[in-house]
Amino acid sequence: MSDRETIRSLMNTAGIEFLLAQFVDIHGSAKVKMVPYTGFDDMIDSGAGFAGAAVWGVGQGPNSHDMLARIDLDTYTPLPWKENTARFAADLFVDGESYPYCPRTNLKRVLAEAKQKGYVFNVGMEPEHFLVKKNADGSLSPWDPDGVDSLAKPCYDFRSMAPAMDYLQELTTALNDLGWGVYQTDHEDGNGQYEINFDYQDALTTADRITFFKMATSQIAKKYGAIATHMPKPFADRTGSGLHVHFHLADAITGDCVFIDPADKRKLGCSEVAYHFIGGVLKHAPALCAVTSPTVNCYKRLQLGQGLYSSRSGYTWTPAYISYGDNNRTQMIRTAGPGHFEDRTVSAGCNPYLALAAYLAAGLDGIENQIDPGEPNLGNLYEKTPAEIQEQGTKILPQSLWEAIGELKKDSVVQGALGVIADEFIELKTREWETYDRQVTQWEIEEYLTFF
Ligand code: GLU
Ligand code: MG
Ligand code: MG
Repeated sequence: MSDRETIRSLMNTAGIEFLLAQFVDIHGSAKVKMVPYTGFDDMIDSGAGFAGAAVWGVGQGPNSHDMLARIDLDTYTPLPWKENTARFAADLFVDGESYPYCPRTNLKRVLAEAKQKGYVFNVGMEPEHFLVKKNADGSLSPWDPDGVDSLAKPCYDFRSMAPAMDYLQELTTALNDLGWGVYQTDHEDGNGQYEINFDYQDALTTADRITFFKMATSQIAKKYGAIATHMPKPFADRTGSGLHVHFHLADAITGDCVFIDPADKRKLGCSEVAYHFIGGVLKHAPALCAVTSPTVNCYKRLQLGQGLYSSRSGYTWTPAYISYGDNNRTQMIRTAGPGHFEDRTVSAGCNPYLALAAYLAAGLDGIENQIDPGEPNLGNLYEKTPAEIQEQGTKILPQSLWEAIGELKKDSVVQGALGVIADEFIELKTREWETYDRQVTQWEIEEYLTFF
């Protein structure tokens, strides 16, 4: 735990003149107030005031009392692109009480419940994002000063990486200066799409970092004339952007991973606790999907059939089935080494605080009720037809936000993980679906105008 004098002296040395007290709305978007350095103590003890009803989904009306964002000293982050300013992640308070509609505060609640059961949730999230530009007619193109965005197989290709190297290096150096341990970066399957990998941390730190990552990419990309987008599927014919979750539970006292068992009968090197956790995640996957893939657009990424193959760049690498297996990317959850899993469903568009709270609660439910996930799926799911996959008892992930919200309404465990946020989430997401569903799209006009 950082104390205020240590942070004050770090700020003095760095020449910090302004602070950003930052929280997130229900979508995970960063909201800030800028405060002169002299307000530092006030930001710790009292907080920056917000009118909550001006923000999505924090349970406030226009007549509600002030919502105060009190900064967390452990999250001191000097802005790499603006040297006199530091960001602090904050928790919300109303009338002096911790405010349960704050996604960060809510994640802390679920993490504390896990700790009481003896576990710490360690997580690495793998953000993928695109650099794009908007054309005069409003359409999108990959940001590509070298004009190589037509490469049919751009993944890992030097020519696709080259134009973005200055941007990626600036981003990597900035994050490593903050101690994130960025260990690799690549060009992904979609033209103009990149993945940045940094070290595992506890779930709260990772959620704070993903939030800051989105802030940093937007600002650094702007310097290069690009838009950094975390939209899960900006191009229909290219792969989407995931936020894969690598995870394990550790013992709350010793810090040791409790997912490892070299004597595992199922031969993945995992413990019964790990299998039960996976059992819980698979059981709750349909409802969980509403939280880990919370926008209309996310389901363009997860779709059956088209989700397995993108006409432009090959596989989309996204799961469409509720399955787990060995070190095999055709499964929703794969083992990525003994005692270590990767869930590939989670979308770049999720709110990481809500997604991790829901994910952990689903896994803990599996442990509590000793839910057996069944035998691991060792085959290549991409080779099988939907009928064959369903015949083996494997279910399909929700294919739309509407379907996922319907599942969430039936799932008290996932709703419980969202706490008071659940009702607001369901209401907002239902409205989002309805607004989308009532659009008459260009595709429909082209398809039906002279069809009959
Ligand atoms: N872009 C893929 C997705 O949407 C993942 C590719 C990968 O395995 O890194 O999840
Ligand atoms: Mg990737
Ligand atoms: Mg991955």
